[in-house]
Amino acid sequence: MQALQLVARERLTLVEQTLPPVVPAHCARLKMAYVTLNHLDLFGYRGMAFAKRTLPLTVGAEGVGRVVSVGTDSDLDLIGRAMAIYPSFFCGRCPACVKGRENLCSQSGGVMGFHRHGVAADFVDVPVSMLVPVPDGVELAHAACVPVTFATVYHMLVDNARLERGESILVQAGGSGIGSTAIRLARHLGASVFATVGSNDKAEKTRALGADHVINYRQQRFLREVRELTGKRGVDVVFEHVGADTWEESLLSLALGGRLVICGSTTGVEAKTNLMALFNQHIHVFGSFGAPLSGLEASMRLMRDGIEPVIDSILPLEDFERGLARLRRREVFGKIVIEMRPE
Ligand SMILES: [Zn+2]
Repeated sequence: MQALQLVARERLTLVEQTLPPVVPAHCARLKMAYVTLNHLDLFGYRGMAFAKRTLPLTVGAEGVGRVVSVGTDSDLDLIGRAMAIYPSFFCGRCPACVKGRENLCSQSGGVMGFHRHGVAADFVDVPVSMLVPVPDGVELAHAACVPVTFATVYHMLVDNARLERGESILVQAGGSGIGSTAIRLARHLGASVFATVGSNDKAEKTRALGADHVINYRQQRFLREVRELTGKRGVDVVFEHVGADTWEESLLSLALGGRLVICGSTTGVEAKTNLMALFNQHIHVFGSFGAPLSGLEASMRLMRDGIEPVIDSILPLEDFERGLARLRRREVFGKIVIEMRPE
């Protein structure tokens, strides 16, 4: 079998490996079908937290495959089923795991493709407890966008910000993988959507996704636009993942009692906060990372009901690195999906 491994900073190599003859206990072996690219892959590729990681490391945090065999103690009925893989190892026993909050596991064994070997390989052995079934009728290339992208967005908008019908939301970087997903989910929940984008081309595509107001942040200050378009009221929820560049104005874009939910900071981790605005406006801030297993299951149900991810392109495994370069240059609209080799 082959696996795509990070062997040094910004160096990926396709390596030949021998498939272990026996699947470990409590595990299933998946033939991977699709893997998708995330900023997390880019952070890993560029060398973030190398001190805590051992190279070479198989990359890929998000993907789906089909079960081809199981460990001696696992259910044989799993064989042949399409499954998405939960992207981090959890203990299943700590208070957070017992409450179904696996993304807050206090004994977390790390994120696949970042701390631990990932899913960009022909075959992956993974604990059965980390598998989420792909419902009938959902395309595998779409389901591949569930474990990190869809589930993260679902957890942010539904579990944390509790976005409701009739509310308004500002989605930062609406053309990104999670941004485009947030627009679709927010529209599905019945919210009106403001979105920022970095080019006129992306503005057009974002409007086509259903965003009510699209702001090109290179040409207009989004804070001023949001205030003007809402009659100075502001929006109920801001969806943040850009970080340093937008944080200050994102907070000021909120209405009285508004909620800001943040899952990333691609432009930097330090930003200024107007504390007066925070308490005067009764602002709630939710830090959100990943999703519990229930978020993956809910995302699968949404996909079954027709809420699809936006796919930028489907590339072969050999183009993984080229895909990362496009992600880095922000030349994507939606998700880059990697199609793994057929058997
Ligand atoms: Zn745990």
